[in-house]
Amino acid sequence: MSTEAIDVTGVYAAARNVKPHLRRLVGAREADAVAASLDDVLREFDPPNEAGAARITDLLNSRRGTARHLAEVLSDPPRYRPARDRGQKNEPRGGPIDDPGWIPAVSTWKCTFCSWTWPRADAADPVPAVCEQCNNPGLIRLP
Ligand SMILES: [Zn+2]
Repeated sequence: MSTEAIDVTGVYAAARNVKPHLRRLVGAREADAVAASLDDVLREFDPPNEAGAARITDLLNSRRGTARHLAEVLSDPPRYRPARDRGQKNEPRGGPIDDPGWIPAVSTWKCTFCSWTWPRADAADPVPAVCEQCNNPGLIRLP
């Protein structure tokens, strides 16, 4: 038994909000496989519980990029945002200076069909061709 209780809410949040970042974190080749594995665990262990959180933790910790994502999300209770998304909403511009992982989104893109949004953390990041949630090939830049 672990002496530290698993943060079930935080771990599940990380599993859900890692998806738009997977291509950047693990590469395009592995992103779909990782997303599918996470979906399997989220389906199998629903409602969220410690066994599911343990499986998700193993999955995310098996790769360096996703392990960092998990650590970032767990360090941001109760909102559990990835560091890159923390500049998006209701945050004063500038962000926390003591958080080296904090990068403000330079622009935010939204699916024209569903509610999916994609924060463009760097002007060099290519905007996704299709929506990650519904595959709609129409993303528009939010003002
Ligand atoms: Zn969509």
